[in-house]
Amino acid sequence: MRVGCHIQISGGLRKAVDRAVERGCDTMQVFVSNPRGWKQSDILPRDIEAFRNGCREAGLEPVFVHTIYLINLASPSEDTWRRSLDALVMNMEAAARLASSAVVTHLGSHGGEGEEAGIAGVIRALREAFRRCPHPVPLLLETTAGSGNSVGHDFAQLGAITGAFRGEERLGVCLDTCHAFAAGYELRTPEGLKRTLAALDREVGLRRLRLVHANDSKGDLGSRLDRHEHIGEGRIGMEGFAIMARNAALRRLPWILETPGMTVEKDRENIRRLREAAAGGDDA
Ligand SMILES: [Zn+2]
Ligand SMILES: [Zn+2]
Repeated sequence: MRVGCHIQISGGLRKAVDRAVERGCDTMQVFVSNPRGWKQSDILPRDIEAFRNGCREAGLEPVFVHTIYLINLASPSEDTWRRSLDALVMNMEAAARLASSAVVTHLGSHGGEGEEAGIAGVIRALREAFRRCPHPVPLLLETTAGSGNSVGHDFAQLGAITGAFRGEERLGVCLDTCHAFAAGYELRTPEGLKRTLAALDREVGLRRLRLVHANDSKGDLGSRLDRHEHIGEGRIGMEGFAIMARNAALRRLPWILETPGMTVEKDRENIRRLREAAAGGDDA
């Protein structure tokens, strides 16, 4: 199982490679611009070169680009929807230049207009994004916790979106363990995990599952709380992660940590815990 974490890019992209190595990552995820702003990515060609070389030398692979937090592809506001689409395309273009393996994005919120309207907005945005971006970089839709009017907490919602892109191999999904658990999907027991993955397979298809965001959860099962916790310190717990890490469908995927703290020691510790969880071997 390849394990890594989300890495800050302050001071330049090349620094992210050093930070990932320092933490013992096999794989990593980065933002390519300030995640809380709409400003375009200002990465220079020489940064791109250094980043690509650094990743290659360090054996960091795959590398994921996470879109900015402001993106709302389900927004009822035409202005927000348009800006979100542009930001998404910008992230897809940057990912292609960085030789990144995939872009991960949240879908956003329907703002009270209803699930169906939100899903239709997402489909419209993705269609446009794939048309505008010719690169073969996959785009992964992340499962959400379901707080507020967010779209993507129910696998059926993701399925309604992926179902509209049957021949589009670039479209995939990312399972965030904290989000799925908070959305009501049991992951901590072999039977619960089996049911959860069967639901994902039925609605979306497991072949579209390309990434795990490994986060423990402060909130309980079905709490709809998007509050990440360090591995083993939340409601999922070490035993829950051991069960997930021994699952054949999940352990073949890269696992990226997005736990709070972001100190080197804590990141190393979280990575160590995931490796320990995976050390038990293959269950199925
Ligand atoms: Zn996540
Ligand atoms: Zn989250």
